[in-house]
Amino acid sequence: MAFCISCFERQAIVFTTRQVNGENVDEAYCVKCVYQSKMPGVIEKLTAAGINDSNIDEIADKIEYMMLENGADGDISGFFKKLVNQDTDYHPFAGSDAPLNNDTDKKLEKNMPDLEAVRIFFKGDKYATEVTGLVIEEAQKGHSMISLMPTSRHLNAVGGLMGAVYYTMADFAFAVAENCELDSDTITVTQTAQINFLRPWRGGRVTCTADIVKDGKAVCLYEIKVFDRENKELALIIVNGFKTARK
Ligand SMILES: [Zn+2]
Repeated sequence: MAFCISCFERQAIVFTTRQVNGENVDEAYCVKCVYQSKMPGVIEKLTAAGINDSNIDEIADKIEYMMLENGADGDISGFFKKLVNQDTDYHPFAGSDAPLNNDTDKKLEKNMPDLEAVRIFFKGDKYATEVTGLVIEEAQKGHSMISLMPTSRHLNAVGGLMGAVYYTMADFAFAVAENCELDSDTITVTQTAQINFLRPWRGGRVTCTADIVKDGKAVCLYEIKVFDRENKELALIIVNGFKTARK
């Protein structure tokens, strides 16, 4: 993967070579920078594919998503046509707008904390929900599941998922599982956390589950797992929690 040399923000999808003082200089640009600079030879293809001022931001986001999810194929005009016509499930900062899982057993749901209320409460964790973009998928005392669709801002310098992303997911999943009973008079905070990285992330959506192993009066122990889109385990995190009075 290469980043755009103009904005340094998005994935490059257009590669050019130009001559400077008799030497070839390779350059790579993202779709938005190509569109805005009206790069000859490419802008015509973008326009013909239906890309315009009103959808360029959305298209740029979709490309980020698709490149991380699938990688781009070689034929650029076909790739853009596919983008314009395809409705991907890319939702940056999906938060409480994310669709609820309809498969959830309704009977089970009755005994669980109201997911929307939990999501609204945990919106207060702006680092997890806004900065990182984590979405709460399941929340009940002792168990949670959260998800993340990584974009380029979650990657380290060699294109891997930054270690801090795993930690943020684990810390947040733990907090949701332990503190989703919003009327509880105690709050549990992280005391120690140990991360074991098991295999590299290869793109696509990431999910994280937190499950209680041992509950005590003042402390608790959680096993937290991070999975890729194929349900392969990427990391195992052990968290010790400490219970304190809710202010
Ligand atoms: Zn750019």
